[in-house]
Amino acid sequence: MRASVDEAACTGCGLCTDVCPGVFVMDGDVARAKMSELPETLEGCAEDAADGCPSEVITVE
Ligand code: SF4
Repeated sequence: MRASVDEAACTGCGLCTDVCPGVFVMDGDVARAKMSELPETLEGCAEDAADGCPSEVITVE
């Protein structure tokens, strides 16, 4: 699976980095994914972050 953030639309709320710090990191005022290809162990939390993102700008597929 892959994770990505539409950084142009991210509001920088920090939810994803709280929910899944193994995948998401704040980069200035926005979040980004640390890696594109997710290890299996992090897929669940990446999906939880995507589900919780209030701006719906995280794609995990
Ligand atoms: S949860 Fe969504 S809006 Fe909030 S920092 Fe992460 S990607 Fe940005």
